[in-house]
Amino acid sequence: MTFEKLGLSEELLRSVRETGYTSPTPIQAQAIPAILEGKDVMAAAQTGTGKTAGFTLPLLQLLNEKPPVKNNRARALVLTPTRELAAQVQESVFTYGKHLQLRSAVVFGGVKINPQMMKLRRGVDVLVATPGRLLDLFQQRAINFNDIEILVLDEADRMLDMGFIHDIKKIMALLPKQRQTLMFSATFSQEIRQLAKGIINNPVEIDVAPRNSTVETISQIVYPVDKARKTDLLSHLIRNENWYQVLVFSRTKHGADKLVKRLSRDNIHAAAIHGNKSQAQRTKALDGFKKNKIQILVATDIAARGIDIDQLSHVVNFDLPNVPEDYVHRIGRTGRAGASGQAISLVSADEAKQLQDIERLIKRKIEREEIETFEPQHIVPESVSGKSSRNKQGAKPGNNKTRQYKGKRNGSSEQNPRSRYGKPTGSSNRNGNSGNRQQRTASAERPAV
Ligand code: AMP
Repeated sequence: MTFEKLGLSEELLRSVRETGYTSPTPIQAQAIPAILEGKDVMAAAQTGTGKTAGFTLPLLQLLNEKPPVKNNRARALVLTPTRELAAQVQESVFTYGKHLQLRSAVVFGGVKINPQMMKLRRGVDVLVATPGRLLDLFQQRAINFNDIEILVLDEADRMLDMGFIHDIKKIMALLPKQRQTLMFSATFSQEIRQLAKGIINNPVEIDVAPRNSTVETISQIVYPVDKARKTDLLSHLIRNENWYQVLVFSRTKHGADKLVKRLSRDNIHAAAIHGNKSQAQRTKALDGFKKNKIQILVATDIAARGIDIDQLSHVVNFDLPNVPEDYVHRIGRTGRAGASGQAISLVSADEAKQLQDIERLIKRKIEREEIETFEPQHIVPESVSGKSSRNKQGAKPGNNKTRQYKGKRNGSSEQNPRSRYGKPTGSSNRNGNSGNRQQRTASAERPAV
C-alpha cells in the first residue's frame, strides 16, 4: 500500500514525502479513503498508530477543495482532551498543510484568551481546541460554528474520562447538523458508543488495534522492587543502561515532583509535567525533552496524554496505574509506528492487584526480572514476583561472577549484575537452585542479601 493510492492530492503527498513516511499505517490506509468520500468515521486507534495523519491529511484535502473561510468562523473543528494533544494536532496540521493555503489555529485553556480571539478574527480553516476554552470563546462571540463542515473528536474516551461530556454535548448542540464527523478513541466502551449515537451518522467503523491489546513491537518487563527503593532502582537503571528520552509515569503530581528532585540529585536531567505546571513550564519541559536536553520526563497520565514524541525507546511505569487500560495507553508511547520499544514497570508488593488486572486485560503474563541488590525484601505476592520455572544455573547469592552481566555501557563504571528470570509460570521457587536462601512464606521476610 502506498500513499499515492489513497487519493491524496499532490501537495499533500509532497508533505508526506518530506516528512519521510514511506507507506501508510493501517489506520491511514483505511481512514483516508473513507474520509475523502465524505463518510463519518468511528475509529478505534490509540496514540502511536498514526491516527493524527489519518484524519489530518484527508481533512486538509477536503477543505482545500471548497471556498475559503469567513471572519470569526472555522470550517473544521478538532476537539482534543488536553492542551498538549491540541498543540500536537495543530503541529500536524501545519506540517501536512504546508503546501496549501489554509489557515489553522489552536486554542486551549491556561493561557490568555485575547491572543486567541485575535487569531480567530479572520477565521480559520482548521480550529484545534480543548472543549472548555472553545466554549469560552463562543460565549465571547469570538467564534461562530455555523460553517463547520467537519468535526473530529480525538481521544474521545479520554474526553469522557476527564469529565468533558457536558462540554461536548453543549458544543454538539451548537454545530450544524449537516456535517462530517470523525471520532477517534483508544477503546470503544458502552459510554463511547452511547455518545457516538447522538453525533455520528452511519459511520465507517475502523478497528486497527483489537481492543486493549498491546502493540506487538513493545517488549514489556516487570522489575519487582520494594516501594522505598523504586527511585534508587530507576536512577540505577537510567545510569547503567544509559537511557535517554525516557518517559516515566507517576500516579501523582507530588510523586512526579519528588522523583524529579531525586533524579536531579543524581545528576540526571529530569523534568515533570502535570496539571499543576503552567503551560509555559510544560512546553519548556517537552521541548527540552525533544531536544535531548532533558533525559527523563516524568508525567502523570493526564498530562502525558497526547505527548507525541517519535521513537521513544523506553516508557517506565514508576507506579502502576489504577485503571488497567491506562497501562495500554502508557506503553503505547513506545514502539510507535512499528519501531521497537521497551515498557518497564517497577512493581512493589502493594501493586499486586493492579498488575494482575493489567495482565488479565492484556491477556498476557509480563516477564519478571530482578536486579541484583534491588531484590524486594518484603513479601511480594506471587503475582508480582512471578516465580520462575527457569533456574539460574550456577547462580549463588553473593557470587556475582556466576551471574549474568550486561556489562559496562558507555563508560559507565558500574557493573550491571542481573539475574534474569524467564517467563514466569508461578510454579517453582524463584530462587531456583540457590537452596541456601530462605524460602519465602506468606509471613516471612527475606533475609538481606
Ligand atoms: P499518532 O498515532 O498520530 O500519535 O502518530 C504516531 C507517530 O507515528 C507520530 O510520531 C507520527 O509522526 C508517526 N507516523 C504517522 N504516520 C506514519 C507513517 N505512515 N509512517 C511512519 N510514521 C508515521
